[in-house]
Amino acid sequence: MATSRPTTASHTHPVDGFHDMTSKDYYADSYAHFGIHEEMLKDSVRTGSYRSAIVNNAHLFKGKTVLDVGCGTGILSMFAAKAGASHVVGIDMSNIIDQAQKIIEANNFKDTITLVKGKLEEADLPIKQFDIIISEWMGYFLLYESMLDTVLLARDKYLKPNGHIFPDSAAMYIAAIEDQDYKEEKINFWDNVYGFDFSCIKDIALREPLVDTVDLKSVVTDPCMIKHIDLTTARKEDLSFEAPFTLTATRNDYVHAFLAWFDISFECTHKKVKFSTGPHAQYTHWKQTVFYTPSTITVSEGESITGRLTCAPNERNNRDLDISISYKTPRDHEATMQYKMY
Ligand code: SAH
Repeated sequence: MATSRPTTASHTHPVDGFHDMTSKDYYADSYAHFGIHEEMLKDSVRTGSYRSAIVNNAHLFKGKTVLDVGCGTGILSMFAAKAGASHVVGIDMSNIIDQAQKIIEANNFKDTITLVKGKLEEADLPIKQFDIIISEWMGYFLLYESMLDTVLLARDKYLKPNGHIFPDSAAMYIAAIEDQDYKEEKINFWDNVYGFDFSCIKDIALREPLVDTVDLKSVVTDPCMIKHIDLTTARKEDLSFEAPFTLTATRNDYVHAFLAWFDISFECTHKKVKFSTGPHAQYTHWKQTVFYTPSTITVSEGESITGRLTCAPNERNNRDLDISISYKTPRDHEATMQYKMY
C-alpha cells in the first residue's frame, strides 16, 4: 500500500476517548485507518531504528520532556516513555490519535504521555519548551508530501536551546540504473496497445517518478549524494534546492533511469543509529524512486554522467514536488527532463 502522507483539515482539541470514527472521517483522513499504521509499524527497519535510537539512549531521555510530532498510534511516544522521559506530549491531526489514547492507557502510560489532537501549526501544547523532539516525517523521495516543514516549525517554536531532534540528519542519493525490461513494461508499453498508438500517455508516464524496489545488480554507477539535511539547522527554504552530480560508471552498460533514495541517521545517539532506503539495504516501505530518461544512455566503465537535479514544491500546489534532472554524457548533448510527484 502506498504511504503517501496527505494533510487533513482538523481542529485542535484535546483527545476525546469516545470519539467515533465515521466512514466520512476515514474518507477525508487517510491516516485514520489502521492499515497505513500497520504498514509503518511492520517496517522493522524504520520502527526498529527509532526504537534503538530512543530506548538505547536512556541517558538522553531520562527526566526529559519530549514532543512527538505526528504521533500516529503513539509508538514513538511510548519508546520515549520507556527510555525514562519525565513527560511526553504526542500530537496528531488524524483520528488515529483516538486509538493512540486507548493504546497509551492499555500500556499504563496515561500519566507520562499526553496526547493532543490537531495540527502542530495551530496547537496549544500543555508544555511550551521541550528537551527532545521525535518525529517520523519522511515521505517518498524523502520530501514528497513529507512533514519536514512541520518538524522544523516545531523545532523553532518548542525546542530548548541545545535540545535534540530524533532523527537529526537525512541525506539523499542518486545513481543510474539499467532497467530495460521494466521500462519496456511501464513506459514503452504505451507505444503499442493492442495495435493502437497510446504514446501521448508515454510522455506523461515518463514524467511521473516511480516508487519501486530496484535490485542492486541494476545499479551501473557509483552513487552521488545530492542533498544533506541537518535538522538542527535546516530552514524551510533549504528544501528547495539544486544539486550537481557526477555518476561514474562501474561497468559497460546501458542506462534507462536515475534512481534516488535516502539515508536517515540519529547523530546525537551514543552509538550512532542509522538506516538506508537504498537498493543495497534491507527493504523499507519507502522503496526507491525511479526517474526514467526519454532515451537510453550508453556508458563505459570509468565514464561519467554529469548533471544537476533541482527539487522544489510546486508553486500552485505545494504538496506536489517538481523535480528536474539535466544530464550529459561523453557521447550525448545535455538533456533535461521535468518530473512531477503528485
Ligand atoms: N509517529 C507515528 C506515525 C508517523 S506517520 C509512527 O512512527 O508510527 C506521520 C503522522 O503525522 C500521521 O499520523 C499524520 O496524521 C501526522 N501529521 C502530519 N502532519 C501533521 C501536522 N502538521 N500536525 C499534526 N500531525 C501531523
